[in-house]
Amino acid sequence: MSDHYDVAVIGSGPGGYSAAIRSGQLGKSVICIEKCGKDQTPILGGTCLNVGCIPSKTLLDSSYEYFKAVNHASDHGIKIKGISFDLEQMLVRKEKVVEDLTKGVSGLFKLNKVNSLRGTAKIKKDLTIEVTDEEGSFKLISADNIILATGSKPVELDFAPTDQNIVITSKEALNIKQVPNEIIIIGSGAIGLEIGSIWSRLGSKVTLLEELEQLLPQADKQVSTAAMKIFKDQGLDIRLGTNIESVETKNEKVLIKCEEENLEADKLIVAAGRVPYFDDLLDENVDLLLDSNGSINVNPFCETNIKGLYAIGDIVRGPKLAHKASEEGIMVAENIAGLDSSLDYELIPFVIYTHPEIAWVGMNEGQVETLGIDYESASFPFSLNGRSLASRENQGFVKVIVDKTKDSLLGVHIIGTNASELIQQAIIAIETKLSAEKFGSLIFSHPTKSEAIKEAASLINSKAIHISNRKRKK
Ligand code: FAD
Repeated sequence: MSDHYDVAVIGSGPGGYSAAIRSGQLGKSVICIEKCGKDQTPILGGTCLNVGCIPSKTLLDSSYEYFKAVNHASDHGIKIKGISFDLEQMLVRKEKVVEDLTKGVSGLFKLNKVNSLRGTAKIKKDLTIEVTDEEGSFKLISADNIILATGSKPVELDFAPTDQNIVITSKEALNIKQVPNEIIIIGSGAIGLEIGSIWSRLGSKVTLLEELEQLLPQADKQVSTAAMKIFKDQGLDIRLGTNIESVETKNEKVLIKCEEENLEADKLIVAAGRVPYFDDLLDENVDLLLDSNGSINVNPFCETNIKGLYAIGDIVRGPKLAHKASEEGIMVAENIAGLDSSLDYELIPFVIYTHPEIAWVGMNEGQVETLGIDYESASFPFSLNGRSLASRENQGFVKVIVDKTKDSLLGVHIIGTNASELIQQAIIAIETKLSAEKFGSLIFSHPTKSEAIKEAASLINSKAIHISNRKRKK
């Protein structure tokens, strides 16, 4: 006999836990199965809460507090003598934040009557779920609807196998106990840049090896060019177009042979992207359709080719982002409950939590050009924004891209402090089809960094106040 539920969710990351909570709110009987945990108790929150978004942001914030105290406090007239940091305490604080948040998800499960079960789930051909615990005993679960939310794992490179000590992934890189003298990172995407920033601020010499010829190719070119310069000034050595030939560990060091030169470091962090993770999840008779890149194939509503089986988050197409995973979880839960829910995949914001932060939503200039849209773009620098100057956070700019005939916003790109927060207003503006003129005419509080977005939008119609309205040539 199996336990039966309306909805069974496999995986408790942001996709899975959001789907489970929303299903509970909508009156469904729901169980969430999670393989990570201690004894019988699952540790909820997935990659995001345990080894991804949250621990990385906690260490980014701790390291930036230190960096600011050392480098900028004196500009504010603050004198600090003998400043140092306690890495152990930073790591303890990180663990505490993670623990509070994962326990928070357990609390939300209770509040919304979501059952949780620790164990590794496997889907059988008849779509029953076999859950195996650490001792190897089985439990069978059946459900009218199954939501797969098993996330992703780091890309493994044949020439650089990880050993959890010297050649490591982002997971171990967020738990290094002593600041390494030299770190090399393979990959200069969001994860590589964020982890590189943490250790660079704490004193490591950080080199990022990138095989592509452009930093952050998905970002607007103007933003990635500015980012490259800023990161270089910060001491991050980003080498584009690098071809690695071999990696070897010897005497607690790693030797990296590149086409161009040989490098040596104390740690090599492999941050070359992530791939969908559903190892051993499906019995071989389950005929689930996959995409050519190995993701589980789904339609815009996250339905797989098997009725009643859904897949969300990092195991399906689209960017591997926590907010995309959770919104997909909510959409699926609502549709299972008979509501009519959908997502606008064009409006997913991207953020890189370096300093300054980088954030964007909508199309970049290259994409707009390729589509042949008659557009106009304008940029407003934070160096002309009062609040940014007051806080000494005046690097970067806001760039808006606007459809010339409709005056509607097509994309907003920000490199600057608090870009992760500022970008949300662009999402609302694009979603509600606010014209650049209307956006620019809204009353924003002064002095705020948000005024830079208002001014960038105003520039489109030559109505900016704090900068020349001369048109920028395309
Ligand atoms: P996951 O969060 O990966 O959760 C999947 C869960 O399924 C895991 O808990 C796993 O144990 C469980 N599971 C797997 N197989 C089984 C099984 N067979 N049975 C039971 N349970 C199973 N995204 C952002 O949006 N912002 C960020 O700032 C950000 N920072 C990141 C930093 C790092 C270092 C990393 C690695 C990732 C970061 N991400 C960030 C990406 C984000 O973590 C993922 O996009 C997000 O966690 C995906 O959510 P998910 O629900 O699809 O899967």
